[in-house]
Amino acid sequence: MSRPIIPIVSASQVDTTPTPPAEEGVSCSKGAHDQPQSMCPAFGSLRVGLRMRRTSTILSGSACCVYGLTFTSHFYGARRSVGYVPFNSETLVTGKLFEDIREAVHKSADPTQLDAIVVINLCVPSASGVPLQLLPKEINGVRIIGIDVPGFGVPTHAEAKDVLTSAMLKYAKQEVRDGPVPAPQGGRKALPALTLLGEMFPADPMGIAQLIEPMGLTVGATVPTREWRELYSALDGVAVAALHPFYTASVKEFQEANKPVFGSAPVGLEGVQSWLQSLGDTLGLDPQRTHAARNRALELMRDVVKGQPIRGRVTLSGYEGSELLVARLLSECGADLRYVGSACPATPWNEADAAWLRARGVQVQLRATLEQDLQAMDEYEPDLVIGTTPIVQKAKQSSIPSLYFTNLISARPLMGVAGASSLVSVIQAALANKDRFRSMEAFFSPVGKGDTAGVWTDVPKARPEFRAKTKRQAERLLAQRKAEEMGS
Ligand code: SF4
Repeated sequence: MSRPIIPIVSASQVDTTPTPPAEEGVSCSKGAHDQPQSMCPAFGSLRVGLRMRRTSTILSGSACCVYGLTFTSHFYGARRSVGYVPFNSETLVTGKLFEDIREAVHKSADPTQLDAIVVINLCVPSASGVPLQLLPKEINGVRIIGIDVPGFGVPTHAEAKDVLTSAMLKYAKQEVRDGPVPAPQGGRKALPALTLLGEMFPADPMGIAQLIEPMGLTVGATVPTREWRELYSALDGVAVAALHPFYTASVKEFQEANKPVFGSAPVGLEGVQSWLQSLGDTLGLDPQRTHAARNRALELMRDVVKGQPIRGRVTLSGYEGSELLVARLLSECGADLRYVGSACPATPWNEADAAWLRARGVQVQLRATLEQDLQAMDEYEPDLVIGTTPIVQKAKQSSIPSLYFTNLISARPLMGVAGASSLVSVIQAALANKDRFRSMEAFFSPVGKGDTAGVWTDVPKARPEFRAKTKRQAERLLAQRKAEEMGS
């Protein structure tokens, strides 16, 4: 089977739509990449590859980066080996590294075991231009996909998922153009199928299927997919729901295949209503069908959303890209939400969510930095902080109940009926911890903070002269460096 070389999807091709100009109550910041504050972005691509059956992933990069990435992937339950092609200065500059990668790919390409091999260039090989585009596109029927995912070009691990997903979609699209491709396991769906774009809790696609059933539709593939042939089903959908807004390169692949795409997600009562309307409008369905679906959703969800309202002031931030959706749901469930920050950018697919939140007085910060998230926590004095590790750590130090966004919020159902009931219970439980934090603070307060923390046999003695000496030394060093810079 002869196939053309697949072009490498480089970081420069990732659409990082700039944050719109500052609006009232919304400040703009440098992209998250300008001040790296989240995990290595390559983890996003690695995770997408590792979750696919019959797919092997090979990393090319510095050993320390590979150690961190494999450690994290196993922490998140990869249960699969990650390939690694090491290098040194010599193999990098002489081009031997590329030869080593090619050899590794040839050795791994066993069609009885694999549908695809993904090769990921990390920072150093990407910066050095190791040309993965020169790898064969296919060996013994095993597809070879090479991508560059450098930390200096892909701002978040969420957007790195898009780099690999779009490269796979592009490849699969060409295969569809070249001739017949395998049908999905269990055959094509009887009803027109909607493709879902975004990593979700396993129950979410089922919840969405329940919502759209009165429209005569069903849920098709969820992208990123779990196996290669699902990519063909994804391209076969009647429309694409861009539930996660940062898959901009993947959206382009769908649009080039003439698939209509629409944004936001069915979260909360209003969110579900407007999302069903967008779906109906996108497909030009009979309005009666859309009304039927909306009425049924209203019936199913009204009591859940209004039943046990969340009472408390909340700030929320994360780098998963689904922050605005969680924010909508929290707000609809009664939370006094003041701030939502996302390390991901503004795109056409989260525009409606940002507008909805701003209309309710929520400060929306896209491409948010850690400093902005912390500032929001200080400013709004929330009863509950939902955020990334450093934010949660700061909140705990301040005796504010807090929840990790990645582990505790984004890893649960969000869509439809299940989403509302599941989120409310976890938030209410966390809010109820406030008194516990206060009593813990009172209990531990005598042990001190910062450099006075710990158990002392004597009262710690302040040594201001040591601090002054260290300060003088640091200032001298700084002045010396500046003088050297000016002299060079
Ligand atoms: S140097 Fe690059 S590849 Fe390595 S951990 Fe940092 S961002 Fe990731």
